[in-house]
Amino acid sequence: MRNQPANKSINWKNQFRERLFQILGKEGLISSPDELIAYECDALTAYSIKPIFVVLPRSTKEISEVIQLCNKEKIPFVPRGAGTGLSGGALPTEEGIVISLTRMNRILEIDIENQRVIVEPGVINAWVTDAVSSSGYYYAPDPSSQIVCTVGGNVAENSGGVHCLKYGVTTNHVLGLEVVLPNGEIVELGGKTADRPGYDIVGLLVGSEGLLGIVTKVILRIIRKPESVKTFLAAFDKIEDAGGAVSGITAKGIIPAGMEIMDYFSIKAVNMAIQAGYPDDAGAILLVELDGPIDEIEAGIPLVLEVLKENNAKEIRIAKDDEERALFWKGRKSAFAAMGRISPDYYVQDGVIPRSKLPQVLREINVLSKEYGLRVANVFHAGDGNLHPLILYNSSVTGETEKTGELAGDILKVCVDAGGSITGEHGVGYDKKRFIPSMFNETDLDTMNLVRCSFDPNGLCNPGKLFPTPRTCVEQGGQAYEMHPIQKAGMGEMY
Ligand SMILES: Cc1cc2nc3c(=O)[nH]c(=O)nc-3n(C[C@H](O)[C@H](O)[C@H](O)COP(=O)(O)OP(=O)(O)OC[C@H]3O[C@@H](n4cnc5c(N)ncnc54)[C@H](O)[C@@H]3O)c2cc1C
Repeated sequence: MRNQPANKSINWKNQFRERLFQILGKEGLISSPDELIAYECDALTAYSIKPIFVVLPRSTKEISEVIQLCNKEKIPFVPRGAGTGLSGGALPTEEGIVISLTRMNRILEIDIENQRVIVEPGVINAWVTDAVSSSGYYYAPDPSSQIVCTVGGNVAENSGGVHCLKYGVTTNHVLGLEVVLPNGEIVELGGKTADRPGYDIVGLLVGSEGLLGIVTKVILRIIRKPESVKTFLAAFDKIEDAGGAVSGITAKGIIPAGMEIMDYFSIKAVNMAIQAGYPDDAGAILLVELDGPIDEIEAGIPLVLEVLKENNAKEIRIAKDDEERALFWKGRKSAFAAMGRISPDYYVQDGVIPRSKLPQVLREINVLSKEYGLRVANVFHAGDGNLHPLILYNSSVTGETEKTGELAGDILKVCVDAGGSITGEHGVGYDKKRFIPSMFNETDLDTMNLVRCSFDPNGLCNPGKLFPTPRTCVEQGGQAYEMHPIQKAGMGEMY
């Protein structure tokens, strides 16, 4: 019952619902217990909490009014896009509401001349490319969930994708935002032009996991489609060799648009699920995509082939047309969902390591998998060193879920020890906040919390995420805020 004023009347929920109803109308409010079930978790289904209500605003103004009401009543609120997040970022809070952005799904402006598109947060990622493709443009960040996930969710998670190796992740493609701050105020940050003066608050908001406000409008950069594209599929007996090829290709000075590895289990699952035609007997496959001017691609092809052969590729295919290329990628993008074909349950881990450490870390994950007696499928953005070990388990076997959690933690430890991080793109959310201390000390966390408190002194915006222990403003249930060392030294103030 965090954040709930002691003097709430017995009828407070009814009164609160009535006020929400006045702001949003009948279609904008979900309060029936059956319908609320759909919002009690994101794609990380291991955690679930039923919200008291879900609101479905249609405008920035409605969101602002809802948030002002939440502040008055001290009700926590959790922004939510499509709910495809894998770290429990959109997990509701006890006695809190969910603000679902799915009805704010309009593309507001397409400005081809300046290569900008302005969207509402509920626009699906893939719709942006669909909208500009006929003009010869596309939106580069392409999470594998791109046919479902929203731009608002991408902004909150700073999402990556298979083509982010060369073009950068979401933050490199967001130029401006409209945000409803946690006190209900509406602000515009950044704009259509690049490199604006002042602090990079847009950069701060991108990747802030829904803790600093609700994104209600996004100005995106779109880029020209490349003149030429070549996609390779190489099969290896050993996944370490596929990892070696990734380092080898970049060592040649080539930056592919994407380099993705899938191991034996992933290949098997994908072939069963969508008949991608991947070589069934391979220990791993590597997908490499070169894009750019024709001459550059033609010069790169022999170099890539050379590296693949040097690293013991036993079969190499080059997509002969767009259809085959799409099939190569379809397999990769279906890999998580395909795990259901080979395991009753799976847990997606997300860590990042220096690319050069791929062979070593993959070996260590393999050792851990054997120690725990749990299969681990590996499918990942190899070019970025962004691993996605998928732990295959059966939740109906006693103790297996807990064992999976421990193995997932040990895998992250391997990543951090190798000089990496506990998340590459899925965020910290609820799930990984316990691992944050492996990367940040208390002073680091206090500093981050100072930033957070300057946006949200009441601690109502997506509380319980990112920070490992409650640290407030007021998030500790009214406990006094402990001064940051900078404040104690009189060098800064908390507002
Ligand atoms: C099969 C599958 C494949 C995936 N592949 C990738 C991948 O390749 N790369 C990748 O990066 N991720 C991937 N993901 C994870 C997920 O799709 C991304 O994190 C995505 O950006 C989440 O978008 P969403 O709309 O579903 O957001 P949600 O899951 O609804 O929310 C995610 C976070 O964003 C916050 N949020 C949502 N909307 C807003 C808003 N308007 N304002 C402020 N905060 C907001 C929420 O509070 C939450 O903290 C994958 C997930 C699945 C299930």
